[in-house]
Amino acid sequence: MKVSIKSLFIAGLACAASAVWAEFPDKPVVLLVPYAAGGPSDKIARDLAEALRKPLNQTVLVDNAVGAGGTIGVAKVARAPADGYTLLVHHIGMATAPALYRKLSYKVPEDFEYLGLINEAPSVVITKPTAPVNNFAELRKWIADQGTKINLAHAGLGSASHLCGLMLQSTLKQNLTSVPYKGTAPAMTDLIGGQVDMMCEQAANAVPQIEGKKVKVFGSTGLQRVNVPSLKDVPTLAESGLPGFNVQIWHGLYAPKGTPPAVLAKLNTALRAALKDPDFIKREEAIGLSVISDKRIEPAEHRKFVEAEMVRWAKVIKDAGEYAD
Ligand code: ASP
Repeated sequence: MKVSIKSLFIAGLACAASAVWAEFPDKPVVLLVPYAAGGPSDKIARDLAEALRKPLNQTVLVDNAVGAGGTIGVAKVARAPADGYTLLVHHIGMATAPALYRKLSYKVPEDFEYLGLINEAPSVVITKPTAPVNNFAELRKWIADQGTKINLAHAGLGSASHLCGLMLQSTLKQNLTSVPYKGTAPAMTDLIGGQVDMMCEQAANAVPQIEGKKVKVFGSTGLQRVNVPSLKDVPTLAESGLPGFNVQIWHGLYAPKGTPPAVLAKLNTALRAALKDPDFIKREEAIGLSVISDKRIEPAEHRKFVEAEMVRWAKVIKDAGEYAD
């Protein structure tokens, strides 16, 4: 048999590479969150980091890269080394940014590897504690009377709070004044303080504030009520006269395109273990989130789901005439 030096060299390289990937991860893995610390995405990422530590047998850290509705952080992960050590925890914004931003430095779905969906949950419509309204009918009237005098806080174009607010305004056929933040953690501080009036916020960040009576709640955005005892009497917007209103916010885990298959397989296995971890499930359920247990924990199904969401939201965004340069 004739064996060329070149083929021996290539075989040697392949062996060395698989040995390297066999040891993955041999240093801390970073989960990058494209929004401010203390907000819903950050909370989810920190809980997930904790649940991934055991199956990965490695330290898992969370880092925040904020701005431009989350697109700065996403771009950072798209450009990160494709070695499995920098991952992205991101929500529905992954699917909506391509329709909202005319100039985006990354492509969805092409620039990412899909590791599985993490959770989904409705959002809730909340106001500052001093808002002069106490139920959804009163809130609707207040919006109709005050219009753009009402400030609607959100986490930037394409964020969950922005999309949900957009849906609410187009359903009610009313415009509010949009106030963008770098995440809903700082927006929540201003809502509690009364500097802004309203927000459509994910359950993960809203539930503790509602339970602490720091904000008023008017309805949830999914087809089911938020599944926590403190919100069981809060109707969905669909129940309150906006039939079909349905905004569910999901989060997924991503790696840069080109991450070696052996590394992706290890990360997906670790994610599956984390999503079955009873402590993780308990923590997420306490803030109204459902942990994914269906086929969307498969990378191919996760990608398919993101593609379907891109189509669904592109229409909503186009109808609303929203975009950023
Ligand atoms: N996920 C964002 C955050 O963590 C909020 C949003 O998208 O509305 O701040």
